[in-house]
Amino acid sequence: MKSYTEFYIGNEWVKPSSTDQLSVINPFTEQVIASVPEGKEADIDLAVSAAKEAFDRGPWPKMAPSERAKCMTQLSELLKANADTIATTVTSEMGSPMSFSPGGQAFAPIMVLDYYIELADSFPFEETRQGLLNPVKVFREPVGVVALVTPWNVPLFTIMSKLAPALLAGCTAVIKPAPETPINAFLLAELVAQTDIPAGVINVVPAERAVSQYLVSHPDIDKVSFTGSTIAGSKIGAICGEHIKRCSLELGGKSAAIILDDADLDTTIPNILPGAFMNNGQACAAQTRILAPQSNYQAIVERLAEAVSNMVVGDPMEATTQIGPVFAERQRERVESYIQIGLDEGATIATGGGRPKAFDKGWFVEPTVFSNVDNTMRIAQEEIFGPVIVVIPYQDEAEAITIANDSDYGLSGSVWTQDVDRGVNVARQVRTGTYTINGFAMDFGSPFGGYKKSGLGRELGPEGLQVFLEYKTVNLPA
Ligand code: NAD
Repeated sequence: MKSYTEFYIGNEWVKPSSTDQLSVINPFTEQVIASVPEGKEADIDLAVSAAKEAFDRGPWPKMAPSERAKCMTQLSELLKANADTIATTVTSEMGSPMSFSPGGQAFAPIMVLDYYIELADSFPFEETRQGLLNPVKVFREPVGVVALVTPWNVPLFTIMSKLAPALLAGCTAVIKPAPETPINAFLLAELVAQTDIPAGVINVVPAERAVSQYLVSHPDIDKVSFTGSTIAGSKIGAICGEHIKRCSLELGGKSAAIILDDADLDTTIPNILPGAFMNNGQACAAQTRILAPQSNYQAIVERLAEAVSNMVVGDPMEATTQIGPVFAERQRERVESYIQIGLDEGATIATGGGRPKAFDKGWFVEPTVFSNVDNTMRIAQEEIFGPVIVVIPYQDEAEAITIANDSDYGLSGSVWTQDVDRGVNVARQVRTGTYTINGFAMDFGSPFGGYKKSGLGRELGPEGLQVFLEYKTVNLPA
């Protein structure tokens, strides 16, 4: 895999201020496969200054949205032409299986970009209203220079969920990708360089946590859009609060899939698995708490355990693989420590729980189902971020909703039933940002984000554009 030696700043490849490097390790081979320079404060200063220059004096914020959309279309076409490379790059960087990567890692970001390109024509960037006194114009203007700080699990998708609306809004951006998965962001930069997007609009500098914190604290950053852990989001939110910076936070989750007593188990069991184990269980919106009616609890546990034990674990480059390795050795340690916590808490392993015997390398954890779980247990409350689900019994529908809501998080969720109206009624009562009846879905034209400690603000849909805009009211004479 290609390594990089320079940052992308102001449409140029710029030498780093230090010789420190970030190594990219393939979680299947455990080998270093590439390296990139590690951003330091001086590199961040350069990137922010390029973005500020582009915002203050460049053409981008003043261009019509439709003109910006033309440049974004060039980027979309280049991304489409490179979709295969993007998918295999992300799989090599973090191990998501190729049964998921072409759609989830490569095409999903392109769909998001295309959605915002389309929105350019219909979104009301300016409107005239009759105010209480006089007519007013309401302008929606770009919020300014934005810092986009993203995680490793769906690296390009999380970048694009921020970058596409930021670009359409007229913002300029410093992208700070996760230090473990920077290559896809450098690929993006190479494609940006081939478009007419003006200098300084998009800058890419990967960095570790301390330098990332320097970026979000930077006085010339007007808004931070962050996706990552709730603990880091809390810190970043505090920094933004102190400086009155605009801030959007997309954080963790522990979403509940409620299997109602009328669910057809023949379709429910296989269809629940992708939402639970997608991306090797490393998905913020993963449905990792399965709530099952007490009356049918043992049967549901047995059927889930059987289906999960049949999932294909293996080389993430194989299209038939459903579960690859988790993204890092430290992540495997984390997942394994939660498996031990579950056992110590008195839960039972219905399947999995160990490392697959077939591999002598690769950071694998067997897909695991815990039964006899109480919602107060740590394995039911904390985000494990690996291929581990828990099955929790409930007495009746009201208790299922109570358990679903008994969580610090509120990002996603689902209900499984033959009665769609009943499902919608459950959806109304669960305090979470995205809900699906009989499935797991994310609609990129609709808002996505978290209640409670799952975040602040929304991405995707028109709502995901609003957070990159300021409102200006201009009072007109009568
Ligand atoms: P993380 O919080 O450790 O890191 C995320 C990014 O923030 C990285 O780029 C990291 O370098 C940077 N960072 C970390 N601490 C920082 C700080 N104090 N100041 C500034 N930058 C900081 O998260 P991760 O392990 O990379 O990602 C996994 C987490 O992301 C999970 O909790 C998952 O649920 C969450 N996630 C949420 C969504 C969503 O849309 N809600 C999507 C994907 C992932």
